[in-house]
Amino acid sequence: MNTVKAAPIRRARNRATERRIFEHVKATMRPENSPDLDWSRPPQDDPVELVEELLLVPEKRDRVMVNCPICSPNSPQFYHGWVSFFPVEGVYRFIGYECASKYFGRDKIDAAKHESTAAKHHDTAIEFVFDHLGLVPAMIAAFDDVIPAAEHAEYLWHGIGSAHNVRPLLRKVIKEHGNRLVLTRTWTVEIPHETIPDKFIMERKSEPVNFGTLQGALILRTYVTILSGIREHRERLKRIERGGNDAAGVWVLSNIEDRPQVADARNTIDAAERAYKEVRETITDFAKFFDPQNLKALRTWGLSDLNAERLSVIYDDDTVRLKLSHSAGAKIKVDRKLMANLPDWPSKG
Ligand SMILES: [Zn+2]
Repeated sequence: MNTVKAAPIRRARNRATERRIFEHVKATMRPENSPDLDWSRPPQDDPVELVEELLLVPEKRDRVMVNCPICSPNSPQFYHGWVSFFPVEGVYRFIGYECASKYFGRDKIDAAKHESTAAKHHDTAIEFVFDHLGLVPAMIAAFDDVIPAAEHAEYLWHGIGSAHNVRPLLRKVIKEHGNRLVLTRTWTVEIPHETIPDKFIMERKSEPVNFGTLQGALILRTYVTILSGIREHRERLKRIERGGNDAAGVWVLSNIEDRPQVADARNTIDAAERAYKEVRETITDFAKFFDPQNLKALRTWGLSDLNAERLSVIYDDDTVRLKLSHSAGAKIKVDRKLMANLPDWPSKG
């Protein structure tokens, strides 16, 4: 017949108590004076949770070690130990590292170390999330405000794409030269024959000609996802906004101890910031392509006889025409003002 032992009631750890212990030990190096630590010997078979590994500085303790509640209640035993929680009694003890390894085993120590690191990450994430939650509406607004410029940037990208073969040709030309327009000029020269007098042979010569860096080369990408990226991040932020307001309008997470939820909120905010900055950089880069100086350089290249294809670039204040010889070109209306002065990402302080 099976006997079922009733599981003992386990109390939960208390984050505030743990903080008090750590702060006390850090400030004084005297765990024995902490009102939150118990120094009695723990019951043999009670479960234990290793909370935090602490290393005391011997010089700050006049080189006197701490007593270990398990193996050495009456004499100094260690500097290096574990703050541990005994859930059945609901108390914290500071026990020697050796004892922790011996009584609880390597696996438990490793698991506790892992858990302690995870807990620290969780604490940092909570801090980050609470620092940033109040800014979420402003983050959503920043994405909203950048949409017209993003739409225009995508229009420009499509515009270049509609000029037959211009994008692949430009991409090919700058690809091997770190965004520089480097082309090869070739010509032929007549060279006297080595042995036959008055006879000449034709020799082909070539040299690279560098027209400088092409600005705004991001617009030569084969695809863009500016608007879809904005929508995705805005939706994710809105989910946080919906889940983060309590009845009183105070920013809360429904469960602060829910690590995946906190981590997710942190990642969402983090990723939104990175995405926003990338959106801004992309739009700014696209605008550089249509900068008059850049168009001038492009025209210089296009009108030179360096390539079988001849690119014609005609531009005025707001209209740019791009066209390769004998093919369909594109007429693009550029709104430079819209792409300048993009809204800043909201930040603290
Ligand atoms: Zn011990």
